[in-house]
Amino acid sequence: MYDDSLMPATFINGSAIAEDIKNEAAEEVIALKDAGIEPGLTVILVGEDAASSSYVNMKARTCQKLGIRSRKITLPGSVTTEELLSQVRALNADDRVDGILIQLPLPKHVSKHIVLESVSPSKDVDGFHSSNLGSLLLGHETLVACTPLGVMELLRRSNVRIEGANAVVLGRSDDVGKPLAILLMHANATVTVGHSKSRNLAEITRRADILVAAIGRTAMVTADHVKPGAVVIDVGTNQVSDRAEFDRLFGDDPSRLEDFNKRGYVWAGDVDERHVKNVASMITPVPGGVGPMTIAMLMKNTIKAARMRRGM
Ligand code: NAP
Repeated sequence: MYDDSLMPATFINGSAIAEDIKNEAAEEVIALKDAGIEPGLTVILVGEDAASSSYVNMKARTCQKLGIRSRKITLPGSVTTEELLSQVRALNADDRVDGILIQLPLPKHVSKHIVLESVSPSKDVDGFHSSNLGSLLLGHETLVACTPLGVMELLRRSNVRIEGANAVVLGRSDDVGKPLAILLMHANATVTVGHSKSRNLAEITRRADILVAAIGRTAMVTADHVKPGAVVIDVGTNQVSDRAEFDRLFGDDPSRLEDFNKRGYVWAGDVDERHVKNVASMITPVPGGVGPMTIAMLMKNTIKAARMRRGM
């Protein structure tokens, strides 16, 4: 049970930290341009999913702000795996392209695995290629998935002590949970990974000094899952469009209610923020926590790819 008398947690401002990182990235781009290199990111968008399209546009706008050349290739939802592969091969061979990102999800008839593996590892700014994941496992310098990188950066820039900490990662996906567990292990945390088959999850999570939730289950992590004083990072992004659920999660929070009334939904994390903030020492909000970091780290990865390809 949690104690209501504890000091409320400090919110980790992911938007502000992401701004700092983007400003640093913009400086790096200037230095690269001075050396005659203009980093370039190409994003492939398949189909007309509104959310994917808006993510891709956000990435393009951020590139533009930072001086990174960006290009969007839009392919119809009917595209075949072979057509997509030939597009990726062309980008692999194009020297002006430093980073290639395939916006997910892909249509069901396209083989995601084959397409992601076709991206040249040196241009794989999403860090999804098996060769990059292997390098990460071995602790070699490589391109690492943006969201886990963003979580590590949030922890470091918030002065959270990782070395020796008990870190629990909820979720074992290839793009978030697994790479994050490896990064935390390399940073000398003692790491436990929880998933849908874990027994007594609350018992496991209550041992965490650092608890990361990346499960895609709205507010599943309650105050009872959290050790008093723990640092809680909420990766989850879930849409809440049901009014009763909204009331249960957010009560009469006026700014969220305004958003809900305007858009018909709000974003919520995997953590029950309203109650967990009374137990944790630090917590990331949703939105405004991990989300902005993912884009900032994509910019950093594009710059890193531009450097690494040139042996810099
Ligand atoms: P995913 O591929 O669906 O993986 C979910 C993981 O959570 C799986 O390992 C699953 O376990 C585990 N899980 C599901 N239900 C669980 C439960 N009841 N108890 C314990 N574990 C459970 O999801 P993902 O891509 O990692 O994303 C996770 C969340 O993060 C989503 O909400 C996604 O939208 C969000 N996300 C946000 C960002 C960002 O930039 N903010 C980026 C990426 C993802 P099994 O392996 O046993 O099935």
